[in-house]
Amino acid sequence: MMQQITILGATGSIGSSTLDVIGRHPERYQVYALTANTNVDVQAKLCLQWTPRFAVMNDEDSAAELRKRLQAENCPTRVLSGENGLLQVVEDDAVECVVAAIVGAAGLVPTLAAARAGKRVLLANKEALVMSGQLFIDTARENNAVLLPVDSEHNAIFQCMPDSLTQHHSSVKMTNQAANSGIERILLTASGGPFRTWSAEQLQDVTPEQAVNHPNWDMGRKISVDSATLMNKGLELIEAYWLFDMDIANIDVVIHPQSVIHSMVTYSDGSVLAQLGNPDMRTPIAHTLAWPERIESGVEPLNIIDVAQLDFEKPDLQRFPCLRLCYQAIKTGGTATIVLNAANEIAVAAFLDEKIGFNDIAVLIEQALEKSEISSDVSSLEKILAADAKARIITNECIRAMQ
Ligand code: NDP
Repeated sequence: MMQQITILGATGSIGSSTLDVIGRHPERYQVYALTANTNVDVQAKLCLQWTPRFAVMNDEDSAAELRKRLQAENCPTRVLSGENGLLQVVEDDAVECVVAAIVGAAGLVPTLAAARAGKRVLLANKEALVMSGQLFIDTARENNAVLLPVDSEHNAIFQCMPDSLTQHHSSVKMTNQAANSGIERILLTASGGPFRTWSAEQLQDVTPEQAVNHPNWDMGRKISVDSATLMNKGLELIEAYWLFDMDIANIDVVIHPQSVIHSMVTYSDGSVLAQLGNPDMRTPIAHTLAWPERIESGVEPLNIIDVAQLDFEKPDLQRFPCLRLCYQAIKTGGTATIVLNAANEIAVAAFLDEKIGFNDIAVLIEQALEKSEISSDVSSLEKILAADAKARIITNECIRAMQ
């Protein structure tokens, strides 16, 4: 059966890997809609190649430019814009699967809408879950959405869980029964990023170019900086907490510089199950697209002899305070993780604009958490978005005070 797919964030790194996998299986998948922010050049190319039914641009000017270019090429794709456009291509009855690969908080509204519409949701946009945790999981469960983790670590954990837990429910709250299945701990692996061995003093001078140059993974700029600060691992910790309903005390972060083991699950009988593979996002994308089947992804099988050595170490929360702040935010609960995420997005953008230093990212997040009024009420999208907006204002004020 041909599956109709909407890709949110099609022009990005995950979007491009998803299209690569889809292109290998034209008999299974059809691109229904592609969405982007402002990158008309790449979006126009993708539309000409894939002729989706719809293309969505975030703003009307970009949409108008795309419309003009596609008309000149007689491309039948209809161009929509803004949040309404995103909601239309997510909620349409014809769509079965939504790949959530917009970066940052901008992904929350359409990703949550996909869960509400009961779609098969391939979740790459971890920020949506970090912001809306309980609301997102409840929405997915109430509407029988199939929530599948694309993030390589969560995908690995999912693959290491017993079939009895994953078969019928996908990842949504599947581990309510985790204890009965003998699951004891989750070991979330982290490469440690490009500055794993750098001193705090050296970290002060990190440039944006150095930070986006990840040793093992080829990713978008924001997640690359998050990987360098270990904020990405902290966001993943929060993501795992929600996806697998696991007490945070039972989730360990383990630095594993080779990025070959993508995460592990330990069981009460002493077994530790791991998922291994080359660091290429096409593997988890293919897994979630076809689950519970398996399809070819274009990724070479791992040559274990070439890998030869696997190293593990504990993360250093002194040099990488973002991870400590994530533990703190999840313990505080309520709007704390929303503030953390918003402050991080603003701080990372300021770092990439060379307005602040690398170590200032964590300083700003800590200041935003201290200055924000943390509320326990995160029961609606409106409240979540309001907390996000307020935290952005506070972080921008902190940046101004720093200069
Ligand atoms: P990229 O920066 O490469 O791509 C981001 C995509 O989102 C682009 O299509 C961009 O459009 C679109 N976008 C950005 N801002 C907006 C907005 N305001 N409204 C609508 N669309 C927007 O990011 P990645 O592909 O690296 O990451 C995407 C998500 O997946 C992130 O949440 C990341 O944490 C997660 N992830 C990524 C991994 C990776 O290997 N890259 C691994 C695991 C998770 P445009 O091109 O027009 O700007």
